[in-house]
This record gives sequence, C-alpha cells and structure tokens, in this order.
Amino acid sequence: MDHTSNQNDYGMNDIVELKKAHPCGSNRWQIIRLGMDIRIKCTGCQASILLPRAKFNKRLKKVLIKSTEKNETNKSSPSS
Ligand SMILES: [Zn+2]
Repeated sequence: MDHTSNQNDYGMNDIVELKKAHPCGSNRWQIIRLGMDIRIKCTGCQASILLPRAKFNKRLKKVLIKSTEKNETNKSSPSS
C-alpha cells in the first residue's frame, strides 16, 4: 500500500512545515535522513527528531523549500 501523493513530495534536505510547531516556536524542519524512518531537524533550535514515515506524513503540512540539487550526490558518501 503506497499512497504517495504529489503534494507531499519531499526529499532529502527539503525544508518542510509541520502542522504542529516545535516548542521553540519554529515549525520549519529540514529533512536530514530519509528511510523507513525520517529524521528531521528543527531550523529554529537545531534539535533533531526521528519519526516513522507514516507519522511524518500525518504531521507534514507542506514542503516549503525543495532541495533537489543534493538529491543525486554520489552514493559512496559515508552516512553512518
Ligand atoms: Zn525547535
């Protein structure tokens, strides 16, 4: 079951807006890891949290800034 809608088309390093703001007052988050879980970083206080993809999809309001440039960097980059 893959209900991917094009209005929630997000990718690595995108800046997204969530329905609920972070306690620091910012509701802008940068996607810093995409996988089964999605790690996002608050652009206000740099705190990062890990959300299951389904939960992230529910909280996502919209994609503010697409960052397609960094989408196809070399796959040999050490990410762990
Ligand atoms: Zn914050």
